[in-house]
Amino acid sequence: MKNKKYIIAGAGLGGSLLGVLLAKKGFDVEIFESRPDMRRHDIAAGRSINLALSDRGIQALKKAGLSEAINKIMMPMAGRLIHSVDGQKQNQPYSGKKGRVINSISRGGLNSILMTEAEKYDNLEIHFESKIIDIDWDKKEFTYWSDDADSAKKEDFDIIFGADGAGSEIRTNYQRGGLRMFNYSQEFLEHGYKELEIPSNMDGSYKIETDVLHIWPRGQYMMIALPNKDGSFTCTLFMPYHGEQGFDNLKTKDQVSNFFNEKFPDAVPFMPTLLDDFFENPTAPLATVKCYPWVKGGDSALLGDAAHAVVPFYGQGMNASFEDVGVLDDLINQDPSLNWEEIFDKYQKLRKVNADAIAELAIDNYKEMRSHVADPTFQIKRHIEMALESRYSDFNSKYSLVTFEHEVPYSVAKSLGERQDEYLMKICKDVKDWTSLDLDDIYNDLIKLRK
Ligand SMILES: Cc1cc2nc3c(=O)[nH]c(=O)nc-3n(C[C@H](O)[C@H](O)[C@H](O)COP(=O)(O)OP(=O)(O)OC[C@H]3O[C@@H](n4cnc5c(N)ncnc54)[C@H](O)[C@@H]3O)c2cc1C
Repeated sequence: MKNKKYIIAGAGLGGSLLGVLLAKKGFDVEIFESRPDMRRHDIAAGRSINLALSDRGIQALKKAGLSEAINKIMMPMAGRLIHSVDGQKQNQPYSGKKGRVINSISRGGLNSILMTEAEKYDNLEIHFESKIIDIDWDKKEFTYWSDDADSAKKEDFDIIFGADGAGSEIRTNYQRGGLRMFNYSQEFLEHGYKELEIPSNMDGSYKIETDVLHIWPRGQYMMIALPNKDGSFTCTLFMPYHGEQGFDNLKTKDQVSNFFNEKFPDAVPFMPTLLDDFFENPTAPLATVKCYPWVKGGDSALLGDAAHAVVPFYGQGMNASFEDVGVLDDLINQDPSLNWEEIFDKYQKLRKVNADAIAELAIDNYKEMRSHVADPTFQIKRHIEMALESRYSDFNSKYSLVTFEHEVPYSVAKSLGERQDEYLMKICKDVKDWTSLDLDDIYNDLIKLRK
């Protein structure tokens, strides 16, 4: 069984990790990646764009033995630092339990580590600049464009994984008839995003606090900033495309300058390249992709963004992709006979409900990040959650369930977390001093919500 030919479309985050774990088991793996090798070419994905890596992703990376390598490129963030328009700052820890952090990590740095690890195996090869464009399921053959060839080439496969991201060609093939009764939806947010930068000081030191995720919440829109190892921060402005407070209204340098001076006055002095960044960097859309089934018998499976692209507001898209790979790895280990049809079916049933849950949580968290974090009732609720987490080892807020409790599936984290939120928001309404509330009573009420 092991000398089958395993093909992975995409050497991104999920595809590279899957490659490592399959190669480690002795499978023959070939990865086809449409882009050039980011370790040798200066391409967008290799730049210092960063992501928040948390527990679920870290657990899957541990399976590949990569903890030490990734530790070196991670920057811990223990909470949110909220920047008000008047320049005031407020620290909101992510958890009341000690040592809980999320980690800012360079996408290019992490992807490079994964690809380098994958290429250590003789039974794995990555073909760069090789874009998969078609699959013939009857012949078990796929077609790809390689930049070093004049025409498309064909190759056979036994099993093909679609780890080719939100615009997946493998998923498109399912949709074009490769898979009967295939359900698919793509829903764009009205909001897009643009990346900007806070560079380091001349001596390489940081201009603002490094151990937090900075947020400038402004109701309809927000800016965030995550630290990079080189002393800089990647800032992301999320806002509607249209309307009064939208990208449409930021067309000239004066408009952008006035807008930032008015809305983000404390950030502007740290953003010397703001106007160049704003007009050079693209405004990109954000969408949720859902589909089902994720697998075609025992021949093919989708994972990561190809199966479930989510908006980035819970910082879980990559983590969920890695979790997919971890679950697949467990299921393969549990089935020495390697019945792929059964493995894939179990995989999609386990994962779909959780992918749907994190998709919805991510949309809800956008509202929380851009406005609720500045709301007094929400802030009281966060104080109580922190106090409860610190006093009771078995209490976790919704954020903690999603972010720090990898043994709790996203779907369970969502349903329990929402019940807790509803109860807590109710008791926090009109409370001025959260210390006047009885924590033991609250805890006892919350326990009842677990059933
Ligand atoms: C602004 C923003 C911020 C985000 N922040 C976070 C965060 O903080 N934390 C988090 O967990 N997630 C975050 N995400 C989500 C995260 O980026 C994705 O969930 C993650 O990259 C998905 O990994 P993947 O391997 O499935 O897909 P990708 O990383 O997109 O990899 C797909 C790969 O397939 C290749 N490819 C595409 N088509 C083909 C083809 N036809 N043939 C061959 N190769 C192909 C691509 O070149 C790419 O290398 C963010 C996303 C955005 C947009």
